[in-house]
Amino acid sequence: MPEVLEVESYRALAQRLVGKRITRGWADAYASKKLPSPSSWARAVKGLTLEGTARRGKLLLLETDGVTLGLRFGMTGVLLIDGDAGIEGLFYGPHEYKSKWVRAGLEFDDGRKLVVHDPRRLARCEIDPDLGQLGPDALSLTRRQFDQVVHVVRGEGPAIKARLLDQSAVAGVGNLLGDEILFDAGIDPRTPTGLLDDLQRDRLFRSFTHTMRSLKKRGGSHLGAHMPGRFPDGVCPLDGATMLSSTVGGRTTYWCSLHQK
Ligand SMILES: [Zn+2]
Repeated sequence: MPEVLEVESYRALAQRLVGKRITRGWADAYASKKLPSPSSWARAVKGLTLEGTARRGKLLLLETDGVTLGLRFGMTGVLLIDGDAGIEGLFYGPHEYKSKWVRAGLEFDDGRKLVVHDPRRLARCEIDPDLGQLGPDALSLTRRQFDQVVHVVRGEGPAIKARLLDQSAVAGVGNLLGDEILFDAGIDPRTPTGLLDDLQRDRLFRSFTHTMRSLKKRGGSHLGAHMPGRFPDGVCPLDGATMLSSTVGGRTTYWCSLHQK
C-alpha cells in the first residue's frame, strides 16, 4: 500500500504539471467523503494554476494560486498522469488498472489528465487540508524530532510499532516500513515505547533513516530486508529463526523470534 516513499514518487510525478491550469476536476462519492459534496471538488479546482507540489507523510499537496489541494491514497490508491503510474510494483502482485476504479481526476489546459486510481475506495480529496494533525515527515525526520516520537509522558506508552504508525507522531510510516525499521534495529515491535533504552533508541533512529534512504533508492516500501520472511511460518532471512506474527498497533506485524528483542 502507499506509504511515504510511494506518495513521494506520486509527488515527483505531479511536479510535471506545475505551471498548468486546471480546466476541469471531478471526484466520486468516495473520494469526496471529506468534502461537503462531490461537486465541491469540481467547483473548487476549476481555473486554478498548479504552482508547486509538497507532501506531509502520506498526504500529497498540490499548491495552486488559490486553495491547496490534498490527496490521500488509502490502502490501494495510485496517482496516474495520462496512464503513467507514479510507482512501479507498489503492491505484491501484478497491478491492474481499470477505468471503473478511477475515483477522482484533474484535467489541465495542455490536455494532460491526473487521476487517482483506487480499487478499495479509501482515497480522499481534500481542500486546504489540516496539517495540524500530522507529525513531522518521515523522509526528513531529524534526531530531535525522533526523540519526540519516542518520548513518553506517562507510564510505558504504546508498543513501539504502534507509535511508529501513529501519523500524529511521525507522518508517513505504514505497516511495511514500520516492520522493516524494527527488523533492521533488532527491536521487538511489542516493546513499550517508554521502555526502550538509550542504545535501542540510537539503533532505532539509525534504522529509521537508513530504511527510508535505502528503500527510496530501491524503489518502494515493499522491498525491505524482512520481506522474504513476511508470511505464515516464514523464517528470518538474516538468521533462519522463525518469524512471529501478531496484530500490533492494529496491523498484522511480522518480526524475528531471535534477533528482535
Ligand atoms: Zn532474525
